[in-house]
Amino acid sequence: MNCEFHLHLYGCFTPEILYEQGKRLSDIPRWAWFAREYEAAWGKAPTWYWGVENGLEILKSECTLSHPTSFAQFQSVFNLSIALFPAVPEDPFPATVALQCVRDQGVQYAELRMVIPVFFSYSQAQIFLCMLSRAFFAACSEDFHPRLVISLPHAPMTLVSQQYEWVREAMKQDSVVAQMLVALDFCGDEEQYDPREKQAFFRKAHAENRATSYPLRFYYHVGECFSQLGMEAALYRVLQVYELGVHRLSHASVLGIPLRSILRSEPEAEIVRLEALQQEILARLKVDGVVIESCPSSNWILSGISRFEDHPLLRLLRSGVRVVLSSDDPAIFRTGYEEERVFCREKLGITEREMEMLDQYAEHVFFASIARDPRRKGCSLGM
Ligand SMILES: [Zn+2]
Repeated sequence: MNCEFHLHLYGCFTPEILYEQGKRLSDIPRWAWFAREYEAAWGKAPTWYWGVENGLEILKSECTLSHPTSFAQFQSVFNLSIALFPAVPEDPFPATVALQCVRDQGVQYAELRMVIPVFFSYSQAQIFLCMLSRAFFAACSEDFHPRLVISLPHAPMTLVSQQYEWVREAMKQDSVVAQMLVALDFCGDEEQYDPREKQAFFRKAHAENRATSYPLRFYYHVGECFSQLGMEAALYRVLQVYELGVHRLSHASVLGIPLRSILRSEPEAEIVRLEALQQEILARLKVDGVVIESCPSSNWILSGISRFEDHPLLRLLRSGVRVVLSSDDPAIFRTGYEEERVFCREKLGITEREMEMLDQYAEHVFFASIARDPRRKGCSLGM
């Protein structure tokens, strides 16, 4: 089973699809916003791709990433998808196109994350969740099993709780939503919000899970970006998120980064102390069988490292924690299911034995979280 456990729906549009979509639209109202944010991140304005001869090639060079960049630069590139595919509650077109892109990669089981736009009203959100779930259901076949994950923002808790209630309500009202929507994720600006603010939220969410036949899994982007937070706080954040009772940690790169190569100017004693803390947290996660979703290309580009040997996946995997691979935003990082495996072997030097271990972890996560899920009744998983 080829599984992608961590994909963002809006990171799946290939440059060809973005280019065609731009050609199709007579007007791109959010272009000015995209261009402003892009210029702020890159120090130069983006090209108007549909007014030059080799527009598609320029779009590929400006809006896909293969070398280390900042998170702000990544976000500015991601914005092009948002500008070209504005989310409309009733319109399944973006989801249908993204699902086709994932399927074309030969993926058999995929979880795709999508946000509910913050400006949506309650009723727009309900229509949106029904529409998305139906698009996912329609894409199911013998050899392709997509599932929907709603990403909640790292944001003030009033907004988070409201979107959570809307998701539970949609699942209660509509059996297709209940079947297709399997998890919630937290993503966005992780450094600004302390995970401990979400303790009450998670207590309630876990209690509600126990009372329903369609429990939600919880994922959390953490330890992906840590440039502002500092290493010690970033390390503790991973532990704090784990203690919320999440099912998977998304990235947790900070646990796998060789601190010595990042903290070169710190005193030796400080480096040794932080290395011990990193080891201690890794050991605890290993004992508890925590699952970390590691996205090799994405982490290479956004972890602030410059050498392949410093890639967080190597130390995560070799520490014995359970790691599953995924491609995050495959179209932006010029990657996909197979390409990530080639990247692991050729760039990171991961051995065949280690690749087998990764396959075993993926299989285990697939069976533990999916095969035993009551939702699989609605859409055959070919087992
Ligand atoms: Zn992600």
